[in-house]
Amino acid sequence: MHEGVMQTWLESSHLSANSMVYVEQMYELYLDDPTSVSDEWREIFDHLPKVEGVSVETKHSEVRDLFAQLAKTKDRTVVSAADEADAKQVKVLQLINAFRFRGHQNANLDPLGLWQREKVRELTLEHHELSDVDKSKEFNVGSFAIGKDKMPLGELFDALTQTYCGSIGAEYMHITDTDEKRWIQNRLESIKSTPQFDTKIKKRILKGLVAADGLEKYLGAKFPGAKRFSLEGGDALVPMIKEIIHSAGTSGQKEVVIGMAHRGRLNVLVNVLGKKSGELFEEFGGKVDPSLLAGDVKYHQGYSSDFATEGGNVHLALAFNPSHLEIVNPVVMGSVRARLDRRDCDTGSKALPITIHGDSAIAGQGVVQETFNMSQTRAYKVGGTVRIVVNNQVGFTTSNQEDTRSTEYCTDIAKMVQAPIFHVNADDPEAVALVSQIAVDYRNTFRRDVVIDLVCYRRHGHNEADEPNATQPLMYQKIKKHPVPRQLYIDRLVKEGVLSDDEAKTLMDEYRAILDQGECTVEEWRPMTEHSVDWSPYLGHDWDIEYDKAVAVEKLKELGDKITTYPDHVKPHSRVKKQYDERVKMLNGEKLLDWGTAETLAYADLVERGTNVRLTGQDSGRGTFFHRHAVIHSQDDAATYTPLENIKEGQGRFEIYDAVLSEVGVLAFEYGYATAEPDSLVIWEAQFGDFANVAQVVIDQFISSGEQKWGRLCGLTMLLPHGYEGQGPEHSSARLERFLQLCADHNMQVCVPSTPAQVFNMIRRQAIRPMRRPLVVMTPKSLLRHPLAVSSLEELAEGTYHNVIDEIDDIEAKDVKRVVFCSGKVYYDLLDKRRKDEQTDVAIVRVEQLYPFPHAEMDKVIEKYKHVKDFVWCQEEPQNQGAWYCSQHHFWNSIPTGANLTYAGRKASASPAVGYASVHAKEQQALVNDALTIK
Ligand code: AMP
Repeated sequence: MHEGVMQTWLESSHLSANSMVYVEQMYELYLDDPTSVSDEWREIFDHLPKVEGVSVETKHSEVRDLFAQLAKTKDRTVVSAADEADAKQVKVLQLINAFRFRGHQNANLDPLGLWQREKVRELTLEHHELSDVDKSKEFNVGSFAIGKDKMPLGELFDALTQTYCGSIGAEYMHITDTDEKRWIQNRLESIKSTPQFDTKIKKRILKGLVAADGLEKYLGAKFPGAKRFSLEGGDALVPMIKEIIHSAGTSGQKEVVIGMAHRGRLNVLVNVLGKKSGELFEEFGGKVDPSLLAGDVKYHQGYSSDFATEGGNVHLALAFNPSHLEIVNPVVMGSVRARLDRRDCDTGSKALPITIHGDSAIAGQGVVQETFNMSQTRAYKVGGTVRIVVNNQVGFTTSNQEDTRSTEYCTDIAKMVQAPIFHVNADDPEAVALVSQIAVDYRNTFRRDVVIDLVCYRRHGHNEADEPNATQPLMYQKIKKHPVPRQLYIDRLVKEGVLSDDEAKTLMDEYRAILDQGECTVEEWRPMTEHSVDWSPYLGHDWDIEYDKAVAVEKLKELGDKITTYPDHVKPHSRVKKQYDERVKMLNGEKLLDWGTAETLAYADLVERGTNVRLTGQDSGRGTFFHRHAVIHSQDDAATYTPLENIKEGQGRFEIYDAVLSEVGVLAFEYGYATAEPDSLVIWEAQFGDFANVAQVVIDQFISSGEQKWGRLCGLTMLLPHGYEGQGPEHSSARLERFLQLCADHNMQVCVPSTPAQVFNMIRRQAIRPMRRPLVVMTPKSLLRHPLAVSSLEELAEGTYHNVIDEIDDIEAKDVKRVVFCSGKVYYDLLDKRRKDEQTDVAIVRVEQLYPFPHAEMDKVIEKYKHVKDFVWCQEEPQNQGAWYCSQHHFWNSIPTGANLTYAGRKASASPAVGYASVHAKEQQALVNDALTIK
């Protein structure tokens, strides 16, 4: 084949012994970018690696020699007249390549015309040793996808300029995949980046602009000075999102989830999602939603609706969003992943995420990088995200490029995943619509992220009370005189004869009339039917709602058999095999169960019932502390086997992924997943508990307060390894105090289970009880193998998570002089010491759920110790940390009137723990002694 191709080509091409310079230049072009040479050349070069042992990486000189050799053997004659033309031909191809690479730098992107960019020399004829004289000469256009093989240079130059230096600046040559580049070239070059929209689409675009502008003007007049974070200047965003949804619906998408910050959000809510304008006006008027404990400002609200497209209705969801910029992106991705999983779609073809970024934020906020990195991984991929930057060239009051970023474009971060980036002038709404369609098609074809940089401006200050001239005087002088996008487009359409000024005025009047009536402004709006999940079973429950708790011992044994069985060809590592063998003994009743076995049994029980389980974290497959081994890695061939995926036919999905090395992005993703899917148990596990502090924004602004602000339930579980084992400041504490400080309004549960039976029943309670509230768990490290931290099958089978555990030893209540309350690992230190000392006057009571505090259960326990006057709270954490300050009022409420409560624990400390094992041991001994010594 290669020989044949080469032969034919040799006979028909320009190749001669003297044309080697031409070939070499062609080859260099090809190496730079395989799409820059014609298909014929590319095929030749593509096959080089196999042609007589010459590879693409081979030195140019060798390639040249190879061609010279081949030419010689064919006895080619010297055709010197062709040489000059050959040389020019190469220059023409280089010119095309230059436009593809750098055309965007000369594109007309800034509506205000303020950008001062140097003209790119590579985009001139002179740079390529071509001149006006050559303009009439015909040249082969190589792979330029204009639909012709040859063109006069002048015509080609104009076509290149129109394609790459108009209102669209396409950056895609950083992509290595030839098919993707070819695809983009075909889409842009074949139409010179100039769409031919019919009247229907043009009017649809205009209506979007009329709506965007009309709403802002209306709000400005009706509620002067009120904060609305106007979209004005970036008006094209409205028709743009609508075009994306139309394209998505036409291509078969069923759901679109959108994430955006405050700028333009009211406009998107009303003019895209179809929130009734009257509803928004009521909110401006101060309306309070009595169903929400806290509520949130107007420009953080989410919304759901359906949207009619030619391909059918598409369900839309705008995610609720706090002020923290960019953090909603992984939330949206998680929500989309949940919807895709629900629809059994692993290609991304049924749900599309759109994330809307600010120009300063996309470059400035690290979580953006995390989401790009997550975008193609097994645990987090969603088939690509359409990312829009509303680039108004100002970040709050900072617009200097040298202050906001270190890159040419704010979108350069997207190049880390080779996403194509379409910069587009927002004052050319047809170009905006074109790139919107291309973006959706690209995403659907290649299932990867794509970016649209909507270059616009901000007509007002950061908000409507702000004075932008104070910091951006020149820009705002220009903006003041700049016509609004709606008017620019009306002028254009009137000129084209698409509509008259009167018709345009009628459109504006009609829009205003809808606002006057407070009605929905979106023609495509439909009532919700497309979304496929029912939250009603989970609404309005209390903590003590009954649920199907118990599980028979026999059933546990059956499940135990499943979780310890793997095919013969799977050869676990000897240490893993030992753990599996031990599990068999535990399930046979030869030994008590350890933590890993009980936890695995809980997952087995859930998937057997049909519940889906999704568990992600940095080492979740194995478990940070080598205790889980949910995934067996066969030692012979590195194949993996997950027993929990093989419990029974038709079981719930069990998914476990080792996460990318991120906390904030992945936790936000899991929050998004859990708020979109009530029927799955969603768990995020930190490698060490304190690592969660990198994700504090997600904990503060979503997990702990999302229900109170937005009415969005979330059953996410966080497993946070916690415990003082002398590992130093950063591997001891999951910062329990921070979670407890966030607790109010029964917003979430904070649990510290201390036995395998407790973890088994806590996990099941979280999934089976029809309540969806976040569960924060301080999980153990040393307890995973502690000889006392074991449970019987019967204890598991009982099915109850005990929020309080009373004394377990044979201690007479009447002899008790002191009751020690504690949570977590320190319990075993106390128990051990008391047993060793054969002490009988101290009872130890474990608080296994610190929030909501289990007053009723505690009262029952304390009933026995009514005579006791001496109560102690014992903790491992320093006094200013742990539960002492945040939960003390609950402990006081629990003890009998007249009794005293004191503290036994480490002294207050700036650091969570000391760095020296010996000091740690001394401190630990002292606090245990202190707790057990009655003075
Ligand atoms: P969505 O699919 O996100 O647009 O949600 C559709 C509808 O389901 C919403 O309008 C809510 O009524 C309900 N819903 C969605 N998510 C939640 C949640 N996390 N908690 C409670 N209700 C929800």
